[in-house]
Amino acid sequence: MKRRKFIKKTALTGIGIAAGTVLSACNNNSEKTTSIHSTEEKNTMTNMRNQFPIAICTWAFTNANAKAGEELSNNKSALDAAISGVEVEEENLKNTTVGKGGAPDREGNVTLDACVMNSDGDCGAVVCVNTITNVAALARKVMEETPHVMLAGEGAEEFGYRQGFKKENLLTEASKRDWEEWKKSPEYKPIINIENHDTIGMLTIDKNGDIAGACTTSGLSYKMKGRVGDSPIIGSGLFLDNEIGGAVATGMGEEVMKTVGSFLIVELMRNGMSPQAACEEAIRRIVTKNKRHKDFQIAYIAINKAGDVGSYCIHEGFTYMKYQNGKNENIKSGFVLKTV
Ligand code: ASP
Repeated sequence: MKRRKFIKKTALTGIGIAAGTVLSACNNNSEKTTSIHSTEEKNTMTNMRNQFPIAICTWAFTNANAKAGEELSNNKSALDAAISGVEVEEENLKNTTVGKGGAPDREGNVTLDACVMNSDGDCGAVVCVNTITNVAALARKVMEETPHVMLAGEGAEEFGYRQGFKKENLLTEASKRDWEEWKKSPEYKPIINIENHDTIGMLTIDKNGDIAGACTTSGLSYKMKGRVGDSPIIGSGLFLDNEIGGAVATGMGEEVMKTVGSFLIVELMRNGMSPQAACEEAIRRIVTKNKRHKDFQIAYIAINKAGDVGSYCIHEGFTYMKYQNGKNENIKSGFVLKTV
């Protein structure tokens, strides 16, 4: 599809396109947002704050998003709320794509990846964690208690035990049974929207207007041993800038990493795009370059500093949650390819 045609088509599905105006106000201000002085700009900031708090997350993770919304309404920080929110799914044994009960790799090991980012621009991540459920909280500890950004495997686990995290077997009987069934004809075939994947990525804006995010997953089901996707990679699975907004991804992590999708979306918003237009452009970069895009799903959600939200994906069927003003709703994303 030609670029102009694509943009014209996708612009019709926009959710927060008008946000560009407010963003330009932020962008023109090369100093921190605290340097805003004019009455008009102060009013804009007040109006923006009136909409807060907000929580959004990938897929129909209703309880997780409600939890984040509740925490935000109780004056918790954006980061506390995002981590408490995603923990709901990390601890949900029925969810085979996040946390304990996640589908294992080809050898039968559940390995979890996660990252977090706060409004100061600090971040932390863990990859290939085999014995700890709450990996987003563990990623936060890496951010807060170490001089590093990312810890992997045993190093992350040993650090976690020292921080008081419990050692657990993450492979449930149900996930083990499914894996044993899969081993009978071990082919890796992603089923779009049905899932061998379903990361929870969450972005929160607290009552002060500060943004944070968390992204946590067991990765692709029956992945190769040692495989790490986009979800714990800052800039790919999650990125935010407290002056601009944030973005998170779900879907085929390899393709998100190749285009550094979440960072791209935040930079596009910095340059004036709405969250919706930025998500559409990030998806456009994938579908125009990758001939195999019909075979995998990728979805992005994004929020800007004004609280406008956008989302776009390759295949119809992706939805996301939005909590605002006490209402927690599931919203259909715009898409490139209609499911037949
Ligand atoms: N992005 C995740 C990964 O590639 C999986 C997903 O979100 O579906 O590990």
